[in-house]
Amino acid sequence: MIAKKTAALCAALALTAVLGIFSSPAVVLAASEKDDFYQAVNEKTLREKQIKPTEASWSWFHERDLENKEFLTKEIEDIASHQGTYAKGTPEQKIADLYQCITDQETRNATARKHIQDVLAPIKAAKTPQELTEAVGELHQKYGINVLMSMDEQRLPDSRRYVARFEPNNPFLSRYDLEKEPQPGAWKRHTEYISRLLQEDGSAKDKADTMAEAILAYEKSLAPHMLTSEEKNDIMVMNQMVTRKEFLEMTPHLDGKRLLKDWGLSREKVFFLSNPDYLCQIDAAYTEENLELMRNYFIARTYDMLAPFADIPLRDITKAYYNQRYGIKQNRTERERASYLLQDMLPYELGQIYLKKRCTPHMVQDVRAMIYEVRKVYRSRLAANTWMSPRTRAQAIEKLDALRVFVGGPAADDKPTIEDMHVVIPESEGGDLLSNILASNAWAAREEEKLIGTDFNPDKWYAFDPQDVNAAYISDNNSITIPAGILQPPFYDDRASRGANLGGIGVVIGHEISHAFDPNGSHTDKDGNVRDWWTKADYDAFQKRAAAFAPYYSRYELAPGQYENGKLVMNEAIADCGGLSAATEIAAGDKTVLQDLYRNFASIFASKYTDQLLHQLLMLDPHPEGRARVNGALSSTDGFYGAYGITDGDGMYIAEKDRVKLW
Ligand SMILES: [Zn+2]
Repeated sequence: MIAKKTAALCAALALTAVLGIFSSPAVVLAASEKDDFYQAVNEKTLREKQIKPTEASWSWFHERDLENKEFLTKEIEDIASHQGTYAKGTPEQKIADLYQCITDQETRNATARKHIQDVLAPIKAAKTPQELTEAVGELHQKYGINVLMSMDEQRLPDSRRYVARFEPNNPFLSRYDLEKEPQPGAWKRHTEYISRLLQEDGSAKDKADTMAEAILAYEKSLAPHMLTSEEKNDIMVMNQMVTRKEFLEMTPHLDGKRLLKDWGLSREKVFFLSNPDYLCQIDAAYTEENLELMRNYFIARTYDMLAPFADIPLRDITKAYYNQRYGIKQNRTERERASYLLQDMLPYELGQIYLKKRCTPHMVQDVRAMIYEVRKVYRSRLAANTWMSPRTRAQAIEKLDALRVFVGGPAADDKPTIEDMHVVIPESEGGDLLSNILASNAWAAREEEKLIGTDFNPDKWYAFDPQDVNAAYISDNNSITIPAGILQPPFYDDRASRGANLGGIGVVIGHEISHAFDPNGSHTDKDGNVRDWWTKADYDAFQKRAAAFAPYYSRYELAPGQYENGKLVMNEAIADCGGLSAATEIAAGDKTVLQDLYRNFASIFASKYTDQLLHQLLMLDPHPEGRARVNGALSSTDGFYGAYGITDGDGMYIAEKDRVKLW
């Protein structure tokens, strides 16, 4: 819940949003550029940079992100110091009053539990599965809390019309963590956490322990029916739809008709549902015998969801659990915790401040000029392509020419489709943190319903906020987004050499453009419609080339015995190699430029992770890890061999016939 991005599946440059990014082995021997380019370039950085005890990773992405957050913290504090002077509904009023609600721990401690009890009353009163479904609907409508199903809107594959994505929630733990314990003791710590939440709700310890075991057993029974990470990253899987009739047939126990009514979908005829089997499994378990289990499951989920906004003791129970799960040793300061929470809740408002103070027209122009250059290279490459027929080539060029480009941040009048905090009621008028969240969520749920049946606007800013250190390609409107947050060193620096910027933001731009032509992008056309624009022979040739990336990347060992999952990272690897290859062409054979380019490319992906986070990323993250990401792409880039004199026998050498190439 909270801060829900509207519309559009997007392929991000890096997974930084939730967790932060691999511990390299404690290397002592100096690596040679010819043997391990990643290690040689990043040796000093990786020695000096440590994962802070409050974080699960270190990377330039994460470091710059924390700096952006610190910058915004000062802005927030400045605005908050004039609290009470702002007109209602202005960004400053929302920021100042919400900040007070967050930092006033006394009021949080006094009010939160009553709100949670009010929210949970219908769940606790439910005596049958039907009544429980009604209670689930009531939570959605009154508070925007989704304990069972979640709705989102997505444009149709063949038109701009929004239809609902109506999917059951994922379990607490991933499919992989349910199938195999991620670390010894992880399941026990998990059931202790769930038990603790139930005890916070008033259950006796024995009963809560038994329930927590039953909840874990229930989630384990769902695991084999969940999508794999590869499937989740496949737009054709995610685009699966069901009819209303099919949905009702799958939900005899859940009372699908009632669910649809409570989510405002009574008149809708089709929905996105990526995994019907998973819904059927949940339905099969939703029985009279399991009523108490389901009730407790929903109670635990509600506590887990609301904890960050609740009283301080509950907030800290939840945080302590997630800290150990990701190997985080220590909590951030109260000042940081308050500010980061506010930043998550009002990303648009703070994004506008970031834009005004940190993004110059010069930066935007400069990046637009680079995008123009990279596009030009792509265009000439597509035109000169030898394995596609003229017809397919023309369609690909058409798609490239139609690419929408978003740089910096949204224009002042380009507001989010659904605001994150519609209204903030100050404490002086009776508002508190949870009451504000619940009211805003309920409002957002109603707005979501109104969007269904309207048209997706392809010209809006969707991916990321200006302060985010990331970038994206969105197939729904065939667009790339480069937010202002990434326009700083080592990614971009107007004082750095041309080669360094080509290896940083230049490769990033090329990476995002390549997504338009990766296995997912191959299914959508210039308008974001799912359409087969290939001839059969061309598509076969494409698939053969794309498929080679999987075994190629699987060769990289990231931690002892843990290898990169080539199949999972294939799309991102294709994007990296495409971006690097385009940037190489722009460097036009100039050795100094090329060396700067490859060095900076290697440095932007330097990263360290806690063991726990690394384990998660290897299963879930569609991006290759730092070393595989850098060395994998460079070893397949012909220009790299000349620039650094790589020859047979060097660690970075891969025989020409074994290098992977798509664009
Ligand atoms: Zn990507």
